[in-house]
Amino acid sequence: MRIPNRTETPIAYKLLLLILVSSSLVTLLITSIQLVFDYQADIGEINSRLHDIKISYMESIAQSVWNFNKKQYDIQLRGILNLKDVVYTEIRDPNGKIIAFQGKNTSSQIIKKTFVLQTTDFGKSVSPGVLVVVASLARVYRHLLHKTLLILISQGIKTLLISSVIILAFYTLVTKHLWKISEFTKTFDLNSNDYLALNKLTGDSPDELDLVVNALNEMKTNLSKQQKQINDLNKDLEIKVTERTAELEKSNQLLVKKNLELNNKESLLLKQQEELVLLATHDPLTSLYNRRKLQQDLEKLWRVAYREHSLLAVAMLDIDHFKTYNDHYGHTLGDQALVKIARACSKSLLRPFDCIYRYGGEEFIILLPQIDMTGARYVISRIFQSLERLRLPHEYSATADHITVSIGCVLGIPSESNSIDTFINRSDQLLYKAKSAGRNQAAWASI
Ligand code: GH3
Ligand code: MG
Ligand code: MG
Repeated sequence: MRIPNRTETPIAYKLLLLILVSSSLVTLLITSIQLVFDYQADIGEINSRLHDIKISYMESIAQSVWNFNKKQYDIQLRGILNLKDVVYTEIRDPNGKIIAFQGKNTSSQIIKKTFVLQTTDFGKSVSPGVLVVVASLARVYRHLLHKTLLILISQGIKTLLISSVIILAFYTLVTKHLWKISEFTKTFDLNSNDYLALNKLTGDSPDELDLVVNALNEMKTNLSKQQKQINDLNKDLEIKVTERTAELEKSNQLLVKKNLELNNKESLLLKQQEELVLLATHDPLTSLYNRRKLQQDLEKLWRVAYREHSLLAVAMLDIDHFKTYNDHYGHTLGDQALVKIARACSKSLLRPFDCIYRYGGEEFIILLPQIDMTGARYVISRIFQSLERLRLPHEYSATADHITVSIGCVLGIPSESNSIDTFINRSDQLLYKAKSAGRNQAAWASI
């Protein structure tokens, strides 16, 4: 089985590190204590062995030294040397001189014991010297070293095994499932019926991971329900929007229709207004401007001329013997004659501000702004000429065989004395002057 690496299960490695560090510290502590105890036990063992020497050999060595039995105490020294850890032993006389020794004393780590030799000679206690025994600690240290090495090696192997087991176990029990949970969460689809299930060993009792899995699955169920509710609400909303849109379209069409009707009514009103304006300012028979319009225009022109000190001509035109025309030709023909004369006069006015108005009955007024006497005479003569060309027959006229007109024309600069009424009255007077002078002519005056 492969051991997962650090990137696959970093938590397991962190856990392992923690366990290793803490267990190493504990091991170190326990091992140290154990080594101290072992060391003390070994030292105690050596000490008790040296103590045993005192009991077993002291008396006989003291005897053989006192008796100068060299062979005897050499044998005894060799016996001591054979004891465990003892590397050197010697006998010194009371002066400190070595009288016998066995072994070598080369080690610096030693326990050295000096025993005073005691024996009796004829009931008297005597001391023939001292016995020195040296025990080496090399074996103790070797033993400690071996033990340490053994502990280290066994701990190392144990650590290796435990590490593998921890990583493998953590990976199998936790990491593998966490990967699966992560994958599930990343590819979370509310529309699918897939729920998260961990591939655990059969019979494995529920643990913390199962809590997470259950929570995630519950979350998915809740979210699915909520999404369904939102979808239903959206559908309702769509239906309502469609209905409202249809209603809006309907009312919009109605509005457009009403607007159209209003527009039509408005244009009708405008037309009627235009007609009213036309009626108010025009003479229905001749289509010329009427007397009301004359009053408005004359007032404006009079003011402009007053301000500019320019000349204004007002001519009053009256058809000669028109009563007899009506009487003989009838009123209908009289009307037709009126229209023709009005048109002919109107056509004779070429400048844009020159204008003719029906003053009443068969009387007309012509306004000629910004004009001098020559210009006015020229315009009036054009009128006479056009009527001459028209030549509407009038057998019952005392003046000519066709319809003629008489004109009274006044020319002046508007002023306090040359008021509008003055212009009208003077032109009226001049008209009658022209009538009196024989008709079919114009009478002139400057004011
Ligand atoms: P004078 O040469 O002095 O102007 O004589 P006259 O007959 O033209 O003058 P008078 O004022 O006596 O008569 C005017 C006539 O004009 C009376 C009327 O029969 C006629 N008249 C006025 N208005 C109209 C109209 O609108 N239509 C028709 N057909 N005749 C009208
Ligand atoms: Mg008249
Ligand atoms: Mg007349």
